[in-house]
Amino acid sequence: MDNDTTNPNPAPQPAPSETRILLIYTGGTIGMVESPVTHSLAPFDFNHLIDNVPRLGRLGYEFGNVQFRPPIDSSNMNPSYWAEIVKAVVGNYDAYDGFVVLHGTDTMAYTASALSFMLQNLTKPIVLTGSQLPIGDIRQDGVENLITACQVAAAKDEDGKPMVQEVVISFENYLLRGNRSMKMSSTNFDAFRTNNYPALAKMDLHIDYSPAFMLRGDPAKPLESTISMNPSVAVLYLFPGITEEVVRAQLSLPGIKGMVLRTFGAGNAPTEQWFLNLIREAIGRGLVIVNVTQCINGGDEQTRYLTGDMLAQAGVVSGYDITCEAAITKLMYLFGKGLDAKDVASQFVIPLAGEMTVE
Ligand code: ASP
Repeated sequence: MDNDTTNPNPAPQPAPSETRILLIYTGGTIGMVESPVTHSLAPFDFNHLIDNVPRLGRLGYEFGNVQFRPPIDSSNMNPSYWAEIVKAVVGNYDAYDGFVVLHGTDTMAYTASALSFMLQNLTKPIVLTGSQLPIGDIRQDGVENLITACQVAAAKDEDGKPMVQEVVISFENYLLRGNRSMKMSSTNFDAFRTNNYPALAKMDLHIDYSPAFMLRGDPAKPLESTISMNPSVAVLYLFPGITEEVVRAQLSLPGIKGMVLRTFGAGNAPTEQWFLNLIREAIGRGLVIVNVTQCINGGDEQTRYLTGDMLAQAGVVSGYDITCEAAITKLMYLFGKGLDAKDVASQFVIPLAGEMTVE
């Protein structure tokens, strides 16, 4: 993924004063302060965050802001908060050149995935960022991440169009497709990666974009959005020795519609009869089961081994190289559209926003 080439001819950029960026502050470590009583970190006010980044003013952009009140630790993120972000983007879409979402790192990959489905036909950047240390700390990564995210949100290509026209995560040295991202480290400043897709930019001395890997929106198509996500989904994580009781209980959760099955290697699972019977029965009852490998790199090739092929024969949908974060939110999105199980299963394998590579 490392790419040391620098761009000798960067595209001409508009005057900073003509650039309007909307900051959407949801919370996360970036704006947290330490409680004097418990010494644990808790989300804090947006003004505290901005006061700690006087350099933001030197960018010369015009900023607007929308804030979660109160801001949240992203462990509390859920579809109703995603709806708030979508509404903030849609309500301000024409008035701003780009959108920077300040978000906790813990669930940033889920939010980026969800937004990529909830906001279709994007022609402007939605840039998520945050930090591993609070912006008020002496050592911290938040200032650089925030400044870089704003520059990414403002960047134009050679035709004067937004350089980024999709939902991305901008973090430390990499600009990444949001719905391909995973949080890889709870301690490393370089916390995110897209293990199955190249970075959209390497960001060190220069921001070196790779346009060949980026999505381009069709300006003729209007922005389409939804705030309807169906949370009736779950994850079944396989391990050697998993019991029939555990699998049965998870596959028959009341009201469950979609299940991400975290399989071994190239999409493999036990071939014991009780296991396959439970999978077949659940699919027969209308559960959509999607195969997503437990490996962080690569994807499932269900038909490569007999152990995966039996899942395919039973009607398990291939997730190809999709992340678990994207698979869960894509199921929420497809069921949120009111589709039945058959249509969700057939539409799941169609990439919506570059989230998977279908061989
Ligand atoms: N717990 C924090 C959050 O996700 C962690 C972070 O922001 O890095 O909100």
